[in-house]
Amino acid sequence: MQFENSRSFAISMDEADELASFRDRFLQPAHGNGQAIYLLGNSLGLQPRQTQVYINEILKSWQDFGVEGFFMGKEPWLEYHEKLAAPLAAMVGAEPDEIVVMNQLTVNLHLMMASFYKPQGKRRKIICEAKAFPSDQYLLESQCRFHGLDPDDTIVEVKPRAGTDLIAEEDIENAIRQCGDELALVLWGGVNYYTGQYFDLKRLAVATHAAGALLGLDLAHAVGNLPLQLDKWDPDFACWCNYKYVNAGPGSIAAAFIPRRYHKSGRVRLAGWWGYDKAARFKMEKGFVPVQSAEGWQLSTPSPILYAALRASLEIFEEAGMQKLREKSLQLTGYLYFLLDELKMHPAGARVKILTPADPEKRGCQVSLLFEQQGRAIFDALMKEGIFVDWREPNVIRLAPVPLYNQFEEVWKFCDLLKRIG
Ligand SMILES: *Cc1c(COP(=O)(O)O)cnc(C)c1O
Repeated sequence: MQFENSRSFAISMDEADELASFRDRFLQPAHGNGQAIYLLGNSLGLQPRQTQVYINEILKSWQDFGVEGFFMGKEPWLEYHEKLAAPLAAMVGAEPDEIVVMNQLTVNLHLMMASFYKPQGKRRKIICEAKAFPSDQYLLESQCRFHGLDPDDTIVEVKPRAGTDLIAEEDIENAIRQCGDELALVLWGGVNYYTGQYFDLKRLAVATHAAGALLGLDLAHAVGNLPLQLDKWDPDFACWCNYKYVNAGPGSIAAAFIPRRYHKSGRVRLAGWWGYDKAARFKMEKGFVPVQSAEGWQLSTPSPILYAALRASLEIFEEAGMQKLREKSLQLTGYLYFLLDELKMHPAGARVKILTPADPEKRGCQVSLLFEQQGRAIFDALMKEGIFVDWREPNVIRLAPVPLYNQFEEVWKFCDLLKRIG
């Protein structure tokens, strides 16, 4: 693709874009009399228009039927989640019975750790990425303490080599080999939230399993961003939230992947009545009998309001298709790289360093920019002009042109403004 640095070229790309009409399926934040440029799908995705419709249906059902809404009305709440597993399964490359929609991300990671982190004898170490998302760090630290272990002796962080920003994949493999039979679990992010680095998850699974350990994945920044193939890659569990690229709204219901080999394994879990065998759940008998699928890990009555918001969003992904979205994303983020490269010729660009890998196979939509100086002032100026990006201390601006609703022209405007204010 031959890109050009001009507004008219960007507009011609938008005109040729077969996914362009999906933008109208979302509500855009305003700026002055017009629309803001929202480049924050990595943080909180925009609201689909259909979300309010589906949420109102739930409210109406509650109004009309009270508690009977679980069993009555057009779409009884008890079966509502069955609409969600199939589209999510397609997005992550799994079978629908391997997906459960429940809780929030950090809660689900703790639940998965209860089942899949079993420190025994010397096999107790956990490998994770340096600079993991803070919640994941607190999760691992508190899991160690919960098991009576010292986090400093138990958690092994793999860091970028001195003078580099990204983690070399062979360094993860080396850390795994070094831990050997002391390794219990690798917990890894599919895409690092800070640098945007996308890891080879198949390679990670092979190395982890060769050491006799289990692999858990945090896919918060990967789902809805990249087409995934969990069944091929074979991790032991995966968790993600649905409010970033998946657009299911703030604090939306999260999801987990648990492969079939564990459904009937009798693996220890923390149980609740919503994970109980469906046919007998309301007999309320003693003795836990799990649903024989990923749903057997559910604990509590879910909110159908949150289900409704997720449904509105997943319908859009089903229609657009992850493969098509990825193709546009490669172009859209590719255009951002091209413009940033041009910007380097300009004094404003000389101070910007791209943290995210240049290789498109090693990243999704997101690009993280490191500013040697004045980063905060540039961020404030962008926000003032109605360009939503995000700021990470001490000096990083992250942005993610999202193929569902962002335009080439918006990417061009962002770079144009960067040049003028830099
Ligand atoms: C966004 C994010 C979280 C947030 O977890 P919640 O429990 O949904 O608040 C955790 N981990 C990663 C890697 C994230 O990107």
